Amino acid sequence: MTKSAPPVKKNQDIELTFEDISHDGAGVGKINGYPLFVPYALPGETAKVKVIKANKKYGFGKLIEVTKKSEHRVDPPCNVFFKCGGCQIQHMDYEMQLEMKRNQVKSALKKIGHIEGIPIHPTIGMEDPWRYRNKVQIPVGSKNGELITGFYRMRSHDIIEDMERCIITEEANDEMIDVVREIANSLDISAYDETNHRGILRHIMVRSGKVTKQIMVVLVTRKEKVPQLSKLVSVLKEKHPEITSIIQNVNPDKTNVILGKKTKVLYGEEYIYDEIDGIRFSISAKSFYQINPLQTEKLYKKALEYADLSGNETVIDAYCGIGTISLFLAQKAKKVYGVEIVPEAISDAKDNARLNNMDNVEFFVGQAEKVMPWWQAQGIKPDVIVVDPPRKGCDEDLLQAMLDMKPKRIVYVSCNPSTLARDLKILEEGGYKTKEAQPVDMFPQTMHIETVAVLEI
Ligand code: SAH
Repeated sequence: MTKSAPPVKKNQDIELTFEDISHDGAGVGKINGYPLFVPYALPGETAKVKVIKANKKYGFGKLIEVTKKSEHRVDPPCNVFFKCGGCQIQHMDYEMQLEMKRNQVKSALKKIGHIEGIPIHPTIGMEDPWRYRNKVQIPVGSKNGELITGFYRMRSHDIIEDMERCIITEEANDEMIDVVREIANSLDISAYDETNHRGILRHIMVRSGKVTKQIMVVLVTRKEKVPQLSKLVSVLKEKHPEITSIIQNVNPDKTNVILGKKTKVLYGEEYIYDEIDGIRFSISAKSFYQINPLQTEKLYKKALEYADLSGNETVIDAYCGIGTISLFLAQKAKKVYGVEIVPEAISDAKDNARLNNMDNVEFFVGQAEKVMPWWQAQGIKPDVIVVDPPRKGCDEDLLQAMLDMKPKRIVYVSCNPSTLARDLKILEEGGYKTKEAQPVDMFPQTMHIETVAVLEI
């Protein structure tokens, strides 16, 4: 054996003890320092494993039998958990999920950011970590001439036929999928078939307002003209008066992207409304809106607490989306400037400001890293800057722009602990000090981790 050869071979059966968990939820065990990633194994467990791939520096294995079980292992309640891949950690009890997420933040800040010794609080979890998603979009297919709906099997485009429910989706939305499918089926509306680009119904999407209970149904179709579509709409609205909006989205392209360009209102309003802590938001078929409203409220309240506003401050909200955080901040600030790259989101943000009669907030379309230096040139001096970037974190120019603007405080909302840690390090090198961090569980049963951190100069 050469020095660099892996200590295991493909198809070898071994016994392994797991110490850690990877970003995608696989158990990580080591053989003489060589890590093996094994889906569904939990830290603290020992298991029989079959090696399925042995790369030079790491390998993958399949869980055969757990010989020493973690006390945190539970039976996943979803009947298709092992096929779907939408959730990664239903086999881990909620207590361990919250602790594990906090540890991932701690470890990223330490290893990548060299930040230690600050409070990283216990993850704020949900009282009931199920049925939290306010939006579901599900592919439509057919079997034996009948319509079927279900998520795709992991890493494929095969619909999971025996999917009964999605138990992280709000019940009303989940049930609405069945209702729409059955009506469409009875009217002989065909399913889209991506292999030959024929058929009609591609996806059914349902969104709802947590507070308002309004429901929007979006039918994603390959063509605009759909036989029996008006019948479908009339049956649907008659049977389900809770639906306030039925939308058709036309997607004629050969693509994995769910929504096409064109949307048409078939019934009711173009928007549904929802409220977070008394602030009202209008949500269209295409709007970005946080999918877990209960936890969003906790996250934004924490961001507001960290911003520590007295009413006299100028605040910048970079990567503002439809202005959700901006409007939260505007309640306590003198003036808020929001910047976001997607024009439609800024148009929603402006509508939302109007809807809530807030006139101390201004929104701009553009790259935050370009708009911020321009603001600085205009003489805008923020007391606090809030950032909520996508997974890849902040652009380097944006970090520099923040350092140049020298706000008293920076509040960093992050959906990726690794890029958070990388960016905090740069800000610390620029003179800021990370004071504390708070993980918030926005996506129970999944490996997604949301954190809010605060820095001061
Ligand atoms: N704060 C919002 C949205 C955060 S998601 C909320 O909580 O609802 C991150 C947002 O950053 C997305 O809306 C994305 O369109 C936007 N974005 C990505 N790159 C950007 C850039 N360079 N400049 C400004 N916005 C950007």
